[in-house]
Amino acid sequence: MKFEFPHVEPPPGVSPADWNSSSWQFKNSLKNLEDYQRYYQLTDEERAGFSGQDQIFRVRTTPYYAQLGRGPYGALDPIRKILMPSRAELTPGVQHMLDPLGERKNNPVSRIIHRYPDRVLFLVTDFCSVYCRYCTRKHFTGQDQVFPNAEELETAFKYLQDHKEISEVILSGGDPLTLSNSQLSMVLRRIRKIEHIEIIRIGTRIPVVAPMRIDEELLEIIKRHHPIYMMTHFNHPRELTQLAAQALTRIVDRGIPTFNQMVLLNGVNNHANIVRALSRRLLYLRVKPYYMFQCDPSEGTDHFRTSIEDSENIQRQLWGSLSGLAMPNLSLDIPNGGGKVGLVPDFEQLRSPQRRIYRGWDGVVAEYVNPEPSTIETPVDFRQWE
Ligand SMILES: *Cc1c(COP(=O)(O)O)cnc(C)c1O
Ligand code: SF4
Repeated sequence: MKFEFPHVEPPPGVSPADWNSSSWQFKNSLKNLEDYQRYYQLTDEERAGFSGQDQIFRVRTTPYYAQLGRGPYGALDPIRKILMPSRAELTPGVQHMLDPLGERKNNPVSRIIHRYPDRVLFLVTDFCSVYCRYCTRKHFTGQDQVFPNAEELETAFKYLQDHKEISEVILSGGDPLTLSNSQLSMVLRRIRKIEHIEIIRIGTRIPVVAPMRIDEELLEIIKRHHPIYMMTHFNHPRELTQLAAQALTRIVDRGIPTFNQMVLLNGVNNHANIVRALSRRLLYLRVKPYYMFQCDPSEGTDHFRTSIEDSENIQRQLWGSLSGLAMPNLSLDIPNGGGKVGLVPDFEQLRSPQRRIYRGWDGVVAEYVNPEPSTIETPVDFRQWE
């Protein structure tokens, strides 16, 4: 089966050469009410979202992504909802959280979030080329801190060097691929000098909002520092345009395993059909759907949240109708920095030490009997693998 990936036409007066240039896209990004009005006929609700933008969360989008959000659905368009501020953002969340993941208390040195023993986030910039209105990291993103200064960088590298238990560094932000090639190259080179770091991940939304940034020069830099994993953030099948599909193909062709993390968003993608279409297209492009997150209770994002029951129902519906390869793990971040917890729809009918009874996705009920505890052995060589 072959999918059609839509082509995003430039607006009148923009040449294809400009449109396909990432520097043109970044230079001509939409940053205020006037810019947005050139692309959209704003509703009163949307217009009101701009009044408080400096206090709450700044606005920005690439022209490419703005153009993708223009469709027959007007203000109900899913892409438009992701990039467009609205009055609802000015309402504080029920849980009043600017930092729902409790990152500021797991922040041993500037730019490092160390929550799990073996892996850390390294926030290499606070800049994003699109500020997604549901962003969970509003305490940090879009505050003009951009690339760390020399002292912050050295402190962060020293922290990674000194903590031998860290085997994985996740470049995050902001969006690491908004850095210049030389900045990115320097960061990767320095991390690779630390012997105990095995894996580097790059968490980015660039393939979604500015796929033209994924060029040969960038991929050469990344490839030199393997093993590197790319974590993309597609939320809706329409984001998989021709350019996005080409960018993903180039990434994967360079031997960079690519995984997608999505967030369930009210009125944007909270339907099994949408998640299924997104996941199948990603899989076709050799991108593994990895996480499907419950939306965090970040300040001013209550209108984006869906109920946990709805999320579990979506996962239940996918279970029987989607290749296991394409199945994302439904997960929730426990507020206040409790870490992630996997949510699994409830298939269990009975649980006892001796046995479990399950009812499967299409209604088959059967029992699994545990072996006798006296038959359980520990593998003889387990100490060797510590
Ligand atoms: C999500 C997250 C990670 C990575 O978790 P994985 O389950 O390995 O993808 C690491 N650190 C922090 C603080 C996180 O929030
Ligand atoms: S790209 Fe990520 S960090 Fe940046 S605004 Fe969107 S969700 Fe937040």
